[in-house]
Order: sequence, then structure tokens, then C-alpha cells
Amino acid sequence: MSMEPGAAINRVRESGLLKTQGLIGGKWIDAYDGKTIEVQNPATGDIVTSVAYMGKKETTDAISSAYNTFNSWSKHTASERSKCLRKWYDLMISHKEELALLMTLEQGKPLKEALGEVAYGAGFIEFFAEEAKRIYGDIIPATLADRRLFVLKQPVGVVGAITPWNFPLAMITRKVGPALACGCTVVVKPSEYTPLTALAAAELSLQAGIPPGVLNVVVGNASDIGDTLLQSTKVRKITFTGSTAVGKKLLAGSANTVKRISLELGGNAPCIVFDDADLDVAVKGALAAKFRNSGQTCVCANRILVQEGIYEKFANAFAKAVQNLHVGNGLVEGIAQGPLINEAAVEKVEKFIKDATSKGANVILGGRRHSLGMTFYEPTVLGNVNDEMLVSREEVFGPVAPLLRFKTEEDAIHIANDTNAGLAAYIFTTSIPRSWRVTEALEYGLVGVNEGLISTEVAPFGGFKQSGLGREGSKYGIDEYLELKYVCLGNMKEAYTK
Ligand code: ADP
Repeated sequence: MSMEPGAAINRVRESGLLKTQGLIGGKWIDAYDGKTIEVQNPATGDIVTSVAYMGKKETTDAISSAYNTFNSWSKHTASERSKCLRKWYDLMISHKEELALLMTLEQGKPLKEALGEVAYGAGFIEFFAEEAKRIYGDIIPATLADRRLFVLKQPVGVVGAITPWNFPLAMITRKVGPALACGCTVVVKPSEYTPLTALAAAELSLQAGIPPGVLNVVVGNASDIGDTLLQSTKVRKITFTGSTAVGKKLLAGSANTVKRISLELGGNAPCIVFDDADLDVAVKGALAAKFRNSGQTCVCANRILVQEGIYEKFANAFAKAVQNLHVGNGLVEGIAQGPLINEAAVEKVEKFIKDATSKGANVILGGRRHSLGMTFYEPTVLGNVNDEMLVSREEVFGPVAPLLRFKTEEDAIHIANDTNAGLAAYIFTTSIPRSWRVTEALEYGLVGVNEGLISTEVAPFGGFKQSGLGREGSKYGIDEYLELKYVCLGNMKEAYTK
């Protein structure tokens, strides 16, 4: 099904999910000085709408609202919190089309991918609705007869969640889901490029009966909002997904008030194709790992390392598959590649390709802006890339697949680990012993073996090295929002006798 942007926005408006104000204490609010910021459709350049552009004052009020609500929300029973989250999940699923349309309009990803993100993003809420009921403490065997020792798990308090534009829904739900499940309250700052999906999800949270003040959303000046969250002693935790540069700033900024912090930062994912790989599986997997969201994810394959015996065969088959990716407006049926988020993203791609070709890489496919104009870029395959080129040193965050040739398994592991990033890695091989050996040697938080799409709410997501701190999703993800409290019950002389 294809849809015109105008019809898409009308559909969202009619559903009541086109929200353009911030959400503070359950009320939809303009910026106090009336400032707004335009949200642009990257596929057309049209303005979708304008939203409130907030700063320090609004953030301070959002923090107070979260702080004041913490007391009551954290005292709801786990079952009550779980029911609210479950209702929120149900509402997201029943509004999946409107949420997906909004996402395609403001972010550009193909509608089919956007629908996939709604299912994935809502999945975190469903998972943590269930997990809310399983936040168990411990009883520790006492060291003295007259004592009893316990461990309680309690919510950390107010959480500041800062999220990027590449997954406008899922990056929010994977933070807010576990936070709310534990009894924390949250101030979310979505990306200024994609606030609409976040605001629509927040509206659904109110409809689900999540009490006013539990989830607050401020859109606006990133550093003002970020600094206010960092400086507040009421905010006990920062959780962030985004660039490594901003993540480091937040880590440093959290020091002053000694906040808990979770960071999900950039990657430089290797995708290793061994001579013994099944060619079809490797092509399909590498294609998915590279070109999802036009290459704009932190788990996208950034370097495709191909063993010399299969290099030519793989390069040909892969380029053929890439050639079949249709580029265009994500609202059009059959489109696999939307635009890049903005002009700066295209310029980065151009810079990386120029650097690579000037150092000896050859363009197998693409390598140019797309004839559609705007920020569309041709899906690109580069051959003869080496590890000195920018495209293999840094994250390109665009539809560029650089192929690097390697000789031995040891070489591949060395090249793969020769980076400060350590988020996702992919390997393609039919040898089970090799898959174990290489997986164990890779300094990465996620490894896909013969599979290019591996993210799921039920598994821990996070990086080694400078790719981040902490894990999101799964039973592990909830620990990020919990404090452990050790309780020693003394003077229990009468525990055995009365
Ligand atoms: P990207 O390159 O993916 O846009 P950023 O790290 O710039 O990554 O953005 C991720 C999120 O961090 C966005 O919500 C953005 O507005 C926010 N952000 C950017 N700069 C700061 C800052 N100084 N303090 C807090 N948040 C920031």
C-alpha cells in the first residue's frame, strides 16, 4: 500500500496522535517562550509540523513532576504497574499504522521497516510489563545466628532518557519500559529530528492509564535540556543512545552528581565472511546487517571482511543483491531504502567515499547521490578497502558497504577487534567450531552467527569498549534501573527459641 504524505499526516491527525507540545505532569505544554522547531520530512523537504522548542525551565519542571510522582508510582504494586504497561503495549499495537506513518514521515525509513520498529519497540513494553512482576530480591544465609540478611531491589528514582532519531520509538521504549516497570519515573528527551513518534507514544501512555508525571517528554535545545538533567540532584540516572561524542559528555557531566549512567554509543561492526560460508546466507545476512534503515543504525555492518577464496564470488553476488534495493520515499510500496536523515549525513558519506577511492578503493556499485535528489544516496559497494581508510576506521552511518579482503581467521579477528568500538559483529561460516572460536575472540557485545538481524527485546543489547556501558532489553536490562539495598536484621536471638 502506498500513501501520499498529506494523506498520511491526515490519518495521524484524525487518530489524535499528532502531538506538537511537550508533556509535563500529564499536561501538553508549549515552550514557555512560545518557541517552536520545524519537523522536516527528509524524503520531500516538506515541513510535517512544528513542535515546542523547550529548554532549561521546562526541563526543570519536568524533573520536578517526575520527582513528585516517583513516591506514588514506585508504591504501586508490581502488578498495577505491569497492567498499565501492558495496556500501553496494546494501544501501541492497535495504533501501529499511525505510529509507523509518523515514523516514516519524520525519519524516512520505509513503512514496512517502520511497522517492524513499532512491533519491536512495543515489544520492550510488553516484555517489561511481564518482567515488572519478577523483580526478586534475595535472602542471604546469615553469618551470625541472631541475624537475618536480605537484599531488596528498589527503583533508582528519576531517570533522564536521551534518545536519537534512527529508531524514534524503540530507543525510547527500551529505556522507559524497564524504568517504569521498576517504579522509576522518567523525563524523555527525544531527538529534535523525530519528536513526533515520541510524543504520540507518550499520548498513548496517558490513554493507558500511566499516571500523569510518570512519563514526561521535553523537546528542544539538546545541550540545555541535557545540562539541566545532568545538574539536577533529583535525577538519579541518565540513559542515553546516540553518538560517542555526546555520550562522553554525558558520562563526564554525570560525575558531579554521581549519577548512574547507561550509554549505547557508536559501533564499527565487522561482518566476517569466511571461505566456508554459505554464499546465499552470507549475502542475505550482510545485506540486512548493512542496509537496514539505509545504513543508519549503530549495529549496521560497517566493514565487510571477506576471505580471499570467496571474495570475488561474494562481491558479485552481494553487488547484485544491493542493486535490487529500491530507493525512494518510504511511503511508497516496495521501497527498501529511504533518504538519509539530513544533508550532513550525506556529506559524511561523500567524504568517506572520496577518502577511500583516493587511497585505492574501487566503486563496485553506486557511489553517488541518487537522482531523486534531497538526501537520497545510491546504495554503494566499495571494493579493495583497507583498514587505513576512514570508511573502515569510523562509522559511516549510511548505505555504503566497504569490502575488505583477508587471508586467515587470525587476520580477520585482528582487523575486527582493531577499533575502539565493540557493539555488534557478524560472522558467516558453516563451521561450528570456527563460529565458537571467532565469537569468543570478538570484543563485541552482540554477535550474529549466520544472521544479520539480531536485535530483540528478550536479549541484552550493549557494547564493549567505547560502544557503551550497561545493557538494554532482556532480564539484564532491568538491573540498570534498580538499586540493591542490603538489610541486616539484628537482635534476632529469639529466631529459634521463644
Ligand atoms: P546523532 O548523531 O545520532 O544525532 P547525537 O548524539 O547527536 O547523535 O544525538 C542523540 C541525542 O542526543 C539526541 O536526542 C540529541 O538531541 C541529544 N544531544 C545532542 N547533544 C547533546 C548534549 N550536549 N546534551 C544532551 N543531549 C544531547
